[in-house]
Amino acid sequence: MISLAGVNKWYGQFHVLKDIDLTVMKGERIVICGPSGSGKSTLIRCINRLEEHQRGKIVVDGIELTHDLKNIEKVRREVGMVFQHFNLFPHLTVLDNLTLAPIWVKKVPKKEAEEVAMHYLKRVKIPEQAGKFPGQLSGGQQQRVAIARSLCMSPKVMLFDEPTSALDPEMIKEVLDVMIELARSGMTMICVTHEMGFARTVANRVIFMDKGEIIEQNEPEEFFNHPKSERTKLFLSQIL
Ligand code: ADP
Ligand code: MG
Repeated sequence: MISLAGVNKWYGQFHVLKDIDLTVMKGERIVICGPSGSGKSTLIRCINRLEEHQRGKIVVDGIELTHDLKNIEKVRREVGMVFQHFNLFPHLTVLDNLTLAPIWVKKVPKKEAEEVAMHYLKRVKIPEQAGKFPGQLSGGQQQRVAIARSLCMSPKVMLFDEPTSALDPEMIKEVLDVMIELARSGMTMICVTHEMGFARTVANRVIFMDKGEIIEQNEPEEFFNHPKSERTKLFLSQIL
């Protein structure tokens, strides 16, 4: 579904991604962890071209990300993204947040878009919030709206960038539960998160990044119980 080969990226002089090789098969659930500033966000943002890589090759569902705008548009339709800060449109109701892209990008008739939106609002367990504005919801509810909004575009892959790190502790579980359910439904997912309970429950592979490199990757059991690199051990000792 996703392949990165020899991917390098610089911000000016700063080498942020160094020779990243990564293959993600359909239905895989990948968790990426690592210290702040290690390039996790940059890496997943390259996968839907929110950031541009300078060297190497990124292919998503057979489509290579180059300067070709058509390809970028195709990839963005297949890849949903959920951010730390929800990024909902504050002046639109929950329902309008969910139907905006299907109506304007996919040209879905309004009524049908609303039916799909309600389906996903039920799936994230907040159908009763459809008529409210984002500012009237809790952080956990807003993040579930953001997840539902992505799902309305029928993505083949979902990228999550620290989706729970801006939430109060009591709201983290309600968002993780939605992500767990999504994983069980077979969605291909890449999640940047430090929620290691989540990683153990749903990930089939955990990747540790440091200073722009993939240092180590393994299935969760091995990764947590027998980390190989000293850097991974140090990181795990700080967060667990
Ligand atoms: P992480 O998500 O692992 O915390 P990021 O991918 O956000 O790391 O950032 C990696 C490094 O790149 C950091 O040192 C950050 O300061 C730097 N960086 C991120 N975005 C930019 C940018 N737009 N311009 C310059 N430097 C950036
Ligand atoms: Mg980040």
